Amino acid sequence: MRLLVHFLIASNFRRFLCVQAETKFTVKDAILHWEKVFKKQNIPEPENSAGYLVAHVLGETRIVDILVRENEILSKKEKEKLEKLCECRLARMPVQYIIKQWDFRYLNLLMAPPVFIPRPETEELINIILKYIKKSKPKPTGFLEVGCGTGAISLSLVTECKSKLYGIAIDKSYLAVKLASMNVAAYKIDTIKVAFAELTEDGNLTEVHLNGSKPFMPDDKFDFIVSNPPYIPRKKLRDLQPEIKLFEDLRAVDGGDDGMDVIKSLMKLTESRLSEGGSLFMEIDPSHPKLIEKWIDENYDRYKLKLKKVYKDIFDKKRFVHIIK
Ligand code: GLN
Repeated sequence: MRLLVHFLIASNFRRFLCVQAETKFTVKDAILHWEKVFKKQNIPEPENSAGYLVAHVLGETRIVDILVRENEILSKKEKEKLEKLCECRLARMPVQYIIKQWDFRYLNLLMAPPVFIPRPETEELINIILKYIKKSKPKPTGFLEVGCGTGAISLSLVTECKSKLYGIAIDKSYLAVKLASMNVAAYKIDTIKVAFAELTEDGNLTEVHLNGSKPFMPDDKFDFIVSNPPYIPRKKLRDLQPEIKLFEDLRAVDGGDDGMDVIKSLMKLTESRLSEGGSLFMEIDPSHPKLIEKWIDENYDRYKLKLKKVYKDIFDKKRFVHIIK
């Protein structure tokens, strides 16, 4: 009996999708239809999801660009493609992975699962660093980004900074290294090198050599270090949305018991890799500023760090720290 009920529900749902596939419908109909389906299935941000997927099928990247095309009729092929993409969204795949690209500040970057999708709050970190560079004398030129993911932070810094910047962006995920390299190449930037390297717990960098490739991580110190490290306290991982838990690399968000594991390693890294007078910028959890201050105090004799400023994000949460050496 239960099986039969399931079958009826499933086939009704399928019929609901098919009816729409058979009738001629416009761009506007397509958006409204899929928005309704997403709402019914409790998919987060149903309007945006439908909008971005319809835009993608029509070869556009922004929703505004399809609003002017709302009376166009979708071809059979387009409808079928849209249906496939929407099925992915119904399985909770993030829109960014389905359309394989996403905007970050002035950039349009390639996205691919499971590489961490840059979040809107991280865009603010760039403003903080750009302001710091503008005010600094002499100007910082060399930086290191730890855990670069898609390369969003390094690329924004280099493309938006008025003075010359050279960056090394590292990640311990080979897929992230590949994707960041593709994004750097797409913007024809030759002042960012992406390296397959890992920050160890004790604050050292180890580069991975593939097929006997030559190491290129310089031994130098950097003028500043930036990172959006994994910082979610482990207990909170279970509350994350399915989009994150099912599709994104959890190593990019799991910060250990109190979310501070990688943050501590980054502070240790300053000993060997940050120039005297240099800065460390990190995105953090709002529970971290107190813990960071305590760690800096307890380890002052060795690392000589100072918490210069805590910044809030667009949602008014303490989200970034600027630490100086
Ligand atoms: N802000 C991210 C999220 O909520 C987590 C980022 C991180 O751990 N670096 O998914």
